[in-house]
Amino acid sequence: MQAQILNLLMDLQAEYNLGLVYITHNLSVARKISDKVGVMYLGTIVEYGDAETIFEDPQHPYTQALLSANPIPDPTVDRERIPLEGTIPDPIDIGDGCRFAPRCPEAEARCETAEMGLEPFEGDPDHQVDCIKR
Ligand code: SF4
Repeated sequence: MQAQILNLLMDLQAEYNLGLVYITHNLSVARKISDKVGVMYLGTIVEYGDAETIFEDPQHPYTQALLSANPIPDPTVDRERIPLEGTIPDPIDIGDGCRFAPRCPEAEARCETAEMGLEPFEGDPDHQVDCIKR
């Protein structure tokens, strides 16, 4: 059923030249149907770019952890999973700094007060990351 609906959406998109926003937790589906991907954490986009770039060269620590947990249907591929510890901040009282800091394996003290926002990664406006260490 899911495949039928996705195929229908892709057909409609091609036929009517539509722009579609598709929200999903299914990374494999996101990769298959998307031109651009925005990865969200706690209500904000932390990484944005071409689907191929996001899946092959993720830069935000949350994207990296997310993709490390995505199963690959190939028993010969061995990928190390990045565990996320810590707690998710209260969404109505997130506070200053990086909202991923309590769980980020790369967090430093300055992450808790930094001014955050998407910035081009290595000057590439088609790949943007919300992390002060990138
Ligand atoms: S700003 Fe700091 S806490 Fe936030 S994702 Fe980057 S390294 Fe992690």
